[in-house]
Amino acid sequence: MNIRLRNAYLVALINLLLISFAAGDVRHEINFPDILNYETLKCDLHMHTVFSDGSVWPTVRVDEAWREGLDVISITDHIEYQPHKQDVPTNHSRPYEIASRKAKEMNILLVRGTEITRSTPPGHFNGIFMEDIQPLDTNDLADAIKAANKQGGFVFWNHPGWKPEAKGWFDIHTKLYENKWLHGLEVANGDSYYPEALQWCLEKNLTMMGNSDVHQPLTRHATSPENHRTITLVFAEQKSLKALKEALVAGRTAVWYQSQLIGRKKYLEAIFNAAVKIGTPYLRQGNTIWFEITNNSDIDVEMQRVGRQGPEKLTLPANVTTIVKTNINTETDKTILAYQATNFLIAPDKGLPVNLLIPLQ
Ligand code: ZN
Repeated sequence: MNIRLRNAYLVALINLLLISFAAGDVRHEINFPDILNYETLKCDLHMHTVFSDGSVWPTVRVDEAWREGLDVISITDHIEYQPHKQDVPTNHSRPYEIASRKAKEMNILLVRGTEITRSTPPGHFNGIFMEDIQPLDTNDLADAIKAANKQGGFVFWNHPGWKPEAKGWFDIHTKLYENKWLHGLEVANGDSYYPEALQWCLEKNLTMMGNSDVHQPLTRHATSPENHRTITLVFAEQKSLKALKEALVAGRTAVWYQSQLIGRKKYLEAIFNAAVKIGTPYLRQGNTIWFEITNNSDIDVEMQRVGRQGPEKLTLPANVTTIVKTNINTETDKTILAYQATNFLIAPDKGLPVNLLIPLQ
């Protein structure tokens, strides 16, 4: 075999290998509808790598995000806590720089971020949309957060209920808030949910965030209603850094945490209305009707009756159509079944009121 032919064979073989590797690496989309003319971006804006106390290289975070169907991530290594610094030198710009090319290649929007770390209280804060993280490496917390704001950063308070013995809203939080240096709160972080943070978001008009804060490698290969990371849904004009920031500042978010969606009524209502479709009853016998109801989203919708008609409880499993059989007591051309979607939280312990409009031809 001449050299040219052999090289051609080698190239063909390498291409075959590359194609088979690529085929094994598939993306499973997360299904939540776009709402109110915005694109619903699936975002995790809090995670760690070996550049602080995480145990993966920055590019791995991009691979994981792509596999799990995310659109946006921010790697937010601690500025002040770097247990691997004997092996990985302190350089606050490197996690972003290392991940950035891979993120472009995989169509993941990467936001330059960092975690400003103090013992609790006052706790930990993420600054994202940073230009340069170095100026945030100062002793005084307020100075660090001010520096993040000077760069046009979006700053949120992480896991506000992390240490139950030290949780609460302190003077330092008031100072940050009154200076408009604090823009959001994590109402959920990993496996924890903080109802007090949800209440503060509502009272103080702060943006609701939910993130994984993952430190270990993620071995999950697909997201499902039962097994997914805690993420923030951001309702943005488009998938770009500028639009993402505008949406976060405007508070257009919801949080997907375990089996719950947490958010402002306006956004949860829009998600419910876009995801849940009710068919015209296809069978009627006396006062009994049968109709189909489809839930086109990744959350099982749990509903409790608050009106007089309809089954007492209704569960609409994710991404499927369910048949509902119920009695009605109306002669009009439509009937309304009043429910509360109990796992669509619009305030602590408060589900979203929903009306199921059943057309009766
Ligand atoms: Zn963290």
